Amino acid sequence: MAYCRNCGTQIDDDAAFCPDCGASQGNANPPVADNGGFLWGLLGCCIPIAGFILFLVWKDTKPKTAKAAGIGVIVGIVLAILGYIVGLVIMVMICWVICNGWS
Ligand SMILES: [Zn+2]
Repeated sequence: MAYCRNCGTQIDDDAAFCPDCGASQGNANPPVADNGGFLWGLLGCCIPIAGFILFLVWKDTKPKTAKAAGIGVIVGIVLAILGYIVGLVIMVMICWVICNGWS
């Protein structure tokens, strides 16, 4: 249960207004911009370490943005691994062609 910010009457946690005095029960903290920004995901993708740190910093205060950064980190790591594997395969193929020719 929560208490009215104006008169202290016990009210529902999610009540927007106090049923007793009618005072607005807006969140005590000013609303933070938590829009799950695509750019933060992109940052996490490009710089997984930075994205991971942002994820840890924001996971409580900005869950959506933290999630976007976290997904970016995962995508970035997966892309890095895929890039590494593809690069390795291409290198092996090039070496194979150099050593054995096309036939
Ligand atoms: Zn009240």
